[in-house]
Amino acid sequence: MRIPTLIILLVAGSFFIQAQTDADKVRATISKNDIEAHIYFLASDELRGRATGSPEIDIAASYLANHLRRFGVKPAGDDGSYYQQVKLEKVSPPESIEMTMKNLNLSEFINLKVSNMEFEGDAIFLGYGTEDDFKSHDVKGKLVLVLGGQEGETEMMQSYRAGRKKRDLANSGGAVALVEIVNLSDSEKGRMAHHFNEPRVTLGAKDEEPEFAHLWGIPQVDTDLSKLKKGTGKTALLSIRGISTENMGSKNVLGYLEGSDPELKDEFIVYSAHYDHVGVGKPNAEMDSIYNGARDNAVGTVTVLNAAENIAKYPTKRSSLFIFFTGEEKGLLGSQYFVENPTIALDRVVYCFNSDNGGYNDTTKTTIVGLNRTTAGKHFIDAAKEFGLTAIDDPAPEQGLFDRSDNVHFAKKGVPAPTYSMGFNAFDEEITKYYHQVTDNPNTLNYDYLYKFFQSYVLSARLIANDPERPFWTEGDKYYEAGKKLYAKKKEEATILD
Ligand SMILES: [Zn+2]
Repeated sequence: MRIPTLIILLVAGSFFIQAQTDADKVRATISKNDIEAHIYFLASDELRGRATGSPEIDIAASYLANHLRRFGVKPAGDDGSYYQQVKLEKVSPPESIEMTMKNLNLSEFINLKVSNMEFEGDAIFLGYGTEDDFKSHDVKGKLVLVLGGQEGETEMMQSYRAGRKKRDLANSGGAVALVEIVNLSDSEKGRMAHHFNEPRVTLGAKDEEPEFAHLWGIPQVDTDLSKLKKGTGKTALLSIRGISTENMGSKNVLGYLEGSDPELKDEFIVYSAHYDHVGVGKPNAEMDSIYNGARDNAVGTVTVLNAAENIAKYPTKRSSLFIFFTGEEKGLLGSQYFVENPTIALDRVVYCFNSDNGGYNDTTKTTIVGLNRTTAGKHFIDAAKEFGLTAIDDPAPEQGLFDRSDNVHFAKKGVPAPTYSMGFNAFDEEITKYYHQVTDNPNTLNYDYLYKFFQSYVLSARLIANDPERPFWTEGDKYYEAGKKLYAKKKEEATILD
């Protein structure tokens, strides 16, 4: 063989045996048709909006579990199954709330926190209920009555925020109940009642929790509040009756894959998304009553399915834990249950790559809520670029989105945990048109965009999972210290924490 031919063959050979890049591996498994099929199924009318506790959400759970099985992902739930049972309680609102106290007539209540109780005893009025007010008065065993908000700041949201602090003060002082006098317009009343006076789903009361009620009482128009004098005690009667609880079964769906690197496989990356939505509601003008939840969060669910399929075929260095959460729309319950009862020790989880979606209004972008809050930010930027997109950070920090999805439970424990979302550059009408509306249907999505969006998610996943450097919180982040604490005992190997 002549030398030039040999060279040509060697060059050609090295081309063919050249390792596939992560981007090549992503292109090899992500299919637009598959994406459409998954989303059209999960967001179909037949699944009736995947409400937590409904029979239809269990069909979605089975679909997800059996796709994990098909990909070769191993079960990571209870007793060798793909399911983690999440025991929930459905709590009905009280049938009646009555409060009697001289010179005060509260006609309606907002139940911020209630349990059945029959209280007859001392009540004390503490003005706006400042820290000083609580410090200078004994509230133990008493009903504490305060005005909502603060001096000069009695708008509803201000009152709501101020109320949390007052509740803590009343609780730690040993009060039996906190009643805030709040004036609300009819529409505000409607909004608050819709949120707090409807049946609620919870993880179940912890036995050690003492009985405590926190109410907003709306005074009758002719009530003269000037008769209330700070620090004065009166006898009051508070009767809360007819709250009933009902057990409700629900499931997180989980699977794992072992990493390919002998060292890094001890570290897990969580890929998570909630698969529940809000179910069925009042019909709109077109008589549609099903909240299909295509964006929220069939899209996120399918990003995780796509990552599972891809990593099963092309293992990453770090291990993977795929989790589909239940109960997000009921208050992030599935993720809370998981971090309290993890099936893999949380200090082995080095990152949580969550995906949740309200909507999108920019098909040139991916929006990562918390892009710059972890050291993995560069991977999201590179991955988006590979598929012609631009990764941007949360454009609406005032919405507090970082702390409003399942990632926050991981963050609070110290696990770096951003949320990956479709491109949005403002919380505008294009978002609210679909966000928690019956219009969030699969046929209103742009699948050419989603194809790039999904590829970008899976490539981000691969880059993080293969990076020899372990991702962590950016210094100074509000969860940075929690992270240091969580991984402290692994200090010798976790150089990033030094
Ligand atoms: Zn939602």
